[in-house]
Amino acid sequence: MDKKTIFNLSKKYSSFYLYDESQILSNISQLHHAFPNIKLLYSIKSNSNQEVLKTIFNNNLGADAASINEVFMAQKLGLSRNNIFYSAPGKSSEDINQGLKNSTLIADSINELRKINEIGKCNHTIYKIGVRINPNFSFNDELGYPSKFGIDEDKLFQLFNENTLNNIKIIGIHIHLKSQELSTKKLSNYYQNVILLALQVQKRLRSPLTFINMGSGIGVPYRSTDNPVNITLLGKRLSSLLSRFHSQLVNTKIIIESGRYLTCNAGTYVTRVLDRKVSHEQTFLILSNTLNGFIRPSLAMLINKYNNHSISVASEPLFTTTNAFKFTPLPQRPVNKKEKVTLVGNLCTTTDIIAENLIMPYLRPGDVIAISNAGAYGAVLSPMQFSSHNDIKEFLI
Ligand SMILES: *Cc1c(COP(=O)(O)O)cnc(C)c1O
Repeated sequence: MDKKTIFNLSKKYSSFYLYDESQILSNISQLHHAFPNIKLLYSIKSNSNQEVLKTIFNNNLGADAASINEVFMAQKLGLSRNNIFYSAPGKSSEDINQGLKNSTLIADSINELRKINEIGKCNHTIYKIGVRINPNFSFNDELGYPSKFGIDEDKLFQLFNENTLNNIKIIGIHIHLKSQELSTKKLSNYYQNVILLALQVQKRLRSPLTFINMGSGIGVPYRSTDNPVNITLLGKRLSSLLSRFHSQLVNTKIIIESGRYLTCNAGTYVTRVLDRKVSHEQTFLILSNTLNGFIRPSLAMLINKYNNHSISVASEPLFTTTNAFKFTPLPQRPVNKKEKVTLVGNLCTTTDIIAENLIMPYLRPGDVIAISNAGAYGAVLSPMQFSSHNDIKEFLI
């Protein structure tokens, strides 16, 4: 985090996102090193800033598109059809038509498969597509669970028995069950389950899969107490798994997707102190655009309140964990005096509170606070239209 850049920008903008290109590049190269023979996709939905996308797509990553507009964004930045994987539930007919033309389309339901088959029949074409599977395993056990994503493993195999989809060729599978997993062991176990299922699908289809998309899962340490995933070890585990099944996967590309690993720690949200007041002995610092500019800290506080500070279940991407964001005060001149503060925003609601009982140097209006881990699911998730404040700018440096 470059203080000088922050100070300069904060003269003009009361709140903004700052993305550190060198951090993004370092995250990319870590993944490339750990997974040398794996195709990596960037999940655009985590941060779709144009400059961020350019940096990532110029460095040998494909796109994981969650909507047809994300397909077009990747296409505009020069990615070819076979480097854009479009996977989302509830695609409209228009989405499907455009997706077939401009991306590697992943069907998310039996209805979608039938629809694509119909389109193929009309156009006298056999469409090569992927299919998202809801498997009979999870990150924690060997059971299947109800999901709005994909087609249940058993139902897919039943469908294969029907032999009705003659205008479709399934060339790949996609599985994504979880974000923000920090256990290297669980991740490698998951990879093994995905590969084993892919081999079954391949056997049943009697033709090799072109790709196996293992989705995301790799988490990032948000709290100071979180242990990062050992991605070098994870890469080694995956590579030994793949060599074990090498003969069955000769022409199969293995794919891993990630959003947050690439962008989360590269983003900082900067907000300015607008006012301060003491009310019934409590000191409030009123900051610009907290909930509306970067919603995640406010949501964490809200969830905390309802859960009596004992949250165990993440709700990605809205909420990951408590204490996920570090608040760094940046007074413009040296300050000796410290105080206990509550950080709130300038909206007309009491829910835009982002921290309580923080010990901070005495900040004055005009000083700024930098918030960490704002690179993923930050700007894209925040309700910037609320209260009609100015749009929040984003900068890549
Ligand atoms: C959101 C999403 C991702 C990215 O998850 P991260 O936790 O940001 O890495 C990957 N794949 C799919 C299918 C997703 O929906």
